[in-house]
Amino acid sequence: MAAKSFDLIVIGAGPGGYVAAIRGAQLGMNVAIVEREHMGGICLNWGCIPTKAMLRSSEVFHLMERAKDYGLKADNIGYDLDAVVKRSRSVAGQLSGGIGHLMKKNKITTVMGEATIPAKGKVSVKTDKGTEELTAKNIVLATGARARELPGLEADGDLVWTYKHALTPKRMPKKLLVIGSGAIGIEFASFYNTLGCDTTVVEVMDRILPVEDAEISSFAKKQFVKQGMKIMEKTMVKQLDRGKGKVTAHIEANGKVEKVEFETVISAVGIVGNVEGLGLEELGVKVDRTHVVVDEYCRTGVEGLFAIGDIAGAPWLAHKASHEGVMVAELISGKNNVHPVRPESIAGCTYCHPQVASVGYTEDKAKEAGYKIKVGRFPFIGNGKAIALGEPEGMVKTIFDEKTGELLGAHMIGAEVTELIQGYVVGRALETTEEDLMNTVFPHPTLSEMMHESVLDAYGRAIHF
Ligand SMILES: Cc1cc2nc3c(=O)[nH]c(=O)nc-3n(C[C@H](O)[C@H](O)[C@H](O)COP(=O)(O)OP(=O)(O)OC[C@H]3O[C@@H](n4cnc5c(N)ncnc54)[C@H](O)[C@@H]3O)c2cc1C
Repeated sequence: MAAKSFDLIVIGAGPGGYVAAIRGAQLGMNVAIVEREHMGGICLNWGCIPTKAMLRSSEVFHLMERAKDYGLKADNIGYDLDAVVKRSRSVAGQLSGGIGHLMKKNKITTVMGEATIPAKGKVSVKTDKGTEELTAKNIVLATGARARELPGLEADGDLVWTYKHALTPKRMPKKLLVIGSGAIGIEFASFYNTLGCDTTVVEVMDRILPVEDAEISSFAKKQFVKQGMKIMEKTMVKQLDRGKGKVTAHIEANGKVEKVEFETVISAVGIVGNVEGLGLEELGVKVDRTHVVVDEYCRTGVEGLFAIGDIAGAPWLAHKASHEGVMVAELISGKNNVHPVRPESIAGCTYCHPQVASVGYTEDKAKEAGYKIKVGRFPFIGNGKAIALGEPEGMVKTIFDEKTGELLGAHMIGAEVTELIQGYVVGRALETTEEDLMNTVFPHPTLSEMMHESVLDAYGRAIHF
C-alpha cells in the first residue's frame, strides 16, 4: 500500500503532541497524529488530571474533618477508596475522550499504534491491523516519559508502586514510604497522609521539594510534620527487602543504616524519556541520558525532526510541552515572530496541602546569578480572605532585581496558590517591574491581595503587616 502523505506527523498524543497537531491544523497543515496507548498522554490519563481528582477527594475529606471549625456538623466521616479511584479514572476518561473529539473537529488523522522513524520524513506505525506507512516533511516527536526505576527499588505493583499503581490502589496502606519529594512524591504523600495513612517521605537532597525556594521547602516541611507526616532529608533508601505483605527499607542517614518496615512503598524518583525503539540512533539524533537534545526551538539537528515536551528534557510539565507544541507548529508553518519557550518563566505547581507554586528565580539562584535583590514576604495570617476561608497558613514571597525592579521570582505556599501564581507569570511575561505591580489595584477580599502586599513589603510599604 502506498504511504499516506501529510504536511506534519506528530508522534505521541500527550499535551505536547495533541496541541502541536491542533495548532498545525489551525495553520492549514494536513496533520496526522500517532498514539500507541491513550489520547491525552500521561498528563490526562496518569498524571496531572487523575492526581488532582484524587487530591480533591482528600481535600474534601480534610474539610469534612474540620466541619466543626466552620460551625457545621459531620458525623461518621469516612471514605470509599474504590469510589475515590473510580471518580479519578472517570475524570481522566472524560478528558481523554475529549481529545479524540478535538482531533476530529480539527480534521487531524489519528493513527493508533506504535511509531518508528525508519528514515527522514518517514513514519512506520504498527497497528492492530498491520503496518501503516506515513510520510511528511516535518515530524514532531512527543513521546513523553515514564517513571524512573532505581536498581533494587523497582516497582512490583503490590508492595512497591509507581505513580500508576498509586493512582489505582486496591487498598489503603497502613504504613507508607514515599521515596522522593519532588512534586509527584509530595502529592501522593499528601493524599495518603490526609486519608489517615502513616506516611514517611525520604529525600536524598538536603530538603523536600528541592527545586523550590529554601524558605518554601522549610515552611512546607513544618506543615506536613504538623499533619503527622514523617520527613527524612539527606537520607537515602539503599535497599528494599520484600516479604509477605511488608517491605523492609534500609534507610541510610549520616552513614548509618536503619531498617524500617512498611506496608507499601511509592517510588517517585524521577522520570526517563521514551527514546527507545524509535530509530533515533540511526537517524543521528543526539540523546543525552534519556532525553533528546534540542535547541531553543526544539530542533533536533536532523532536518524536519523536532522534539517537544518530556522527551526533550526539563521542566517536565504539561504546560511546557503544550507551549513547545504551539511554537514548533508555528515554526514549521513559516510564521514570523516565533519565540522560544523560556523555562525560567514556566510556573511549577504542587497540589499538596498546603499547595505550593512558583515561577522564576529562587532567592539562592538569584544571588548565585549575581543579582542584588530585594525580597518581599506576606503571610496568609495577614489576609482577610485567608482568615475567612479558615486557611491562615501560608506565605507569598517575591524577589526583585534591586537595580531595575524586574520581578525575578515569586514563591507561594498556602490555599489556592496554584491558581494565584499565574498573576506573576503574566507579570514576568510582560516584563513588569515593582512599580507596575504596586500601582495595580487588587480586588478585595481575595487571596491575590497578598501578591500585592508581598511586592509592597519588598519596598518597605506593606500595609497589613
Ligand atoms: C503522577 C504525575 C502527576 C503529574 N502532575 C502534573 C501536574 O500537575 N502538572 C504538570 O504540568 N505536569 C504534571 N505531570 C507531568 C506531565 O504529565 C508531563 O509533563 C506531560 O504529560 C508531558 O507531556 P508530553 O506530551 O511530553 O508526553 P506524555 O504526556 O507522556 O505523552 C506521550 C505520549 O506518547 C505516546 N507514545 C510514546 N511512544 C510512542 C510511540 N513510539 N508511538 C506512538 N505513541 C507513543 C505515549 O503513549 C503517550 O501517550 C505529572 C506527571 C505524573 C506522572
